[in-house]
Amino acid sequence: WGYTSFRPLQREAMETVLAARDSIVVLPTGGGKSICFQAPALVRPGLAVVVSPLLSLMKDQVDTLVGNGVAAGLYNSSLTPAEKGRVVAGLRDGRYRLLYVSPERLVGEGSDGFLALLASCDVGFVAVDEAHCISQWGHDFRPEYRQLSRLRQALPGISIHAYTATATSQVRRDIASQLGLRDPVELVGAFDRPNLLYRVLPRGVLKRQLLDVLARHRGEAGIIYCVSRREVDTLAAWLTAEGVPALPYHAGLSDAERSRNQDAFLGERVDVIVATVAFGMGIDRSNVRFVVHAGAPRSPEHYQQESGRAGRDGLEAECLLLSSSADFMRWRVMLERGGELSDASQALLRQMERYATSVGCRHRHLSEYFGDRYPKDGCGACDFCLNELETAADSVVIARKVLSCVVRVGQRFGAMHVSSVLRGHASEQVVSRGHDSLTTFGLLSALEYRLLRRWHESEARRE
Ligand code: ADP
Ligand code: ZN
Repeated sequence: WGYTSFRPLQREAMETVLAARDSIVVLPTGGGKSICFQAPALVRPGLAVVVSPLLSLMKDQVDTLVGNGVAAGLYNSSLTPAEKGRVVAGLRDGRYRLLYVSPERLVGEGSDGFLALLASCDVGFVAVDEAHCISQWGHDFRPEYRQLSRLRQALPGISIHAYTATATSQVRRDIASQLGLRDPVELVGAFDRPNLLYRVLPRGVLKRQLLDVLARHRGEAGIIYCVSRREVDTLAAWLTAEGVPALPYHAGLSDAERSRNQDAFLGERVDVIVATVAFGMGIDRSNVRFVVHAGAPRSPEHYQQESGRAGRDGLEAECLLLSSSADFMRWRVMLERGGELSDASQALLRQMERYATSVGCRHRHLSEYFGDRYPKDGCGACDFCLNELETAADSVVIARKVLSCVVRVGQRFGAMHVSSVLRGHASEQVVSRGHDSLTTFGLLSALEYRLLRRWHESEARRE
């Protein structure tokens, strides 16, 4: 490989393979996971089986390995019958050091023959890449990964190693139990990106807020994520008209247009790209100085991945989340429509909402969410630690009044209604329900309606 040193935890990860000790390795994207199983595969006797869900990634890795003279093969649905035959023959001859397999081909329906073939080969270890896909609690659950539990029975003597970029402790436990790992070594890398400056703001007048960000980053590269394609198109056109050339990027564009826009961004011919959260892959450029979310994504995992496209070069970059409670309602509707509204997806959404509404160090929040301890008291690189957040002196008192009103109206009304009651606004709805005679009516009449609404989404802190 020609590297002069290990990246964090790479040596430890490789040692677990050499010692045939089951392991779970959690390193952020770009942390260098693949070498953790590729290098030991060349040192250890036997065949290394690599499970990977993404056909294109699989092909890239195998091509690179073969290009470097490593006997690596690939077995997935993209092969012709003749190619499959060649791989099977190669396996029988013990020709490979590494074999990349899709989970379907390895343990899916009709794969018994292939498993039996592997069992008769000299398999040294199995590496499961993107292992979070096995967990229903993860953000990218793939049912075909569940079948991997059969590996342990089919290949009882070998060690299994799981690799992923995002795994909360719950997902890690799930990976261990699903794969039947035996007392696995857990290696969790540092997730914090100290060069990223995190900010969260309630979404107000979006265009105004975007202009503020752009003014801080004149002539610099940035990505703006939106929830809908229509918003992407509108914003890209508007930004261009405002003198900030911007291109759209979403699944509704033709392949040709999408790759043209992507190339323009990567080739630094345009600096701002507006993308949907659902389709932001491939827009990696190392000098991205800001990533703005014009709406919250559906999980902290998504947020970490998308905001993480900023500052790949290690220099300071800003990650701004503009969100409102409407984002989360919208996601619930969208997930429901797509048949994806599971307990797990709702839990992730709630976690994202927690990030968007909590008051505290953002670096700490994200690190701890991903199961990493955050050692510093103040990060010096988030809105909270930089003292940018608006705070009210009597937040606990306000919170009590809000809650008290929520209880008085029978916990059956939304923030808008409760705010009206608290402000003492005798609207038709308020009066018709007799809520103008509650003791909480007009209790916070001095607060602006807009502010009051926002209080419902904020966190009260006892200092
Ligand atoms: P991941 O799978 O964790 O996202 P990769 O395995 O694709 O990351 O590695 C990311 C990049 O880091 C690759 O370009 C790889 O060649 C490089 N890399 C990995 N290990 C090292 C190392 N020890 N020193 C320098 N570069 C490394
Ligand atoms: Zn902080």
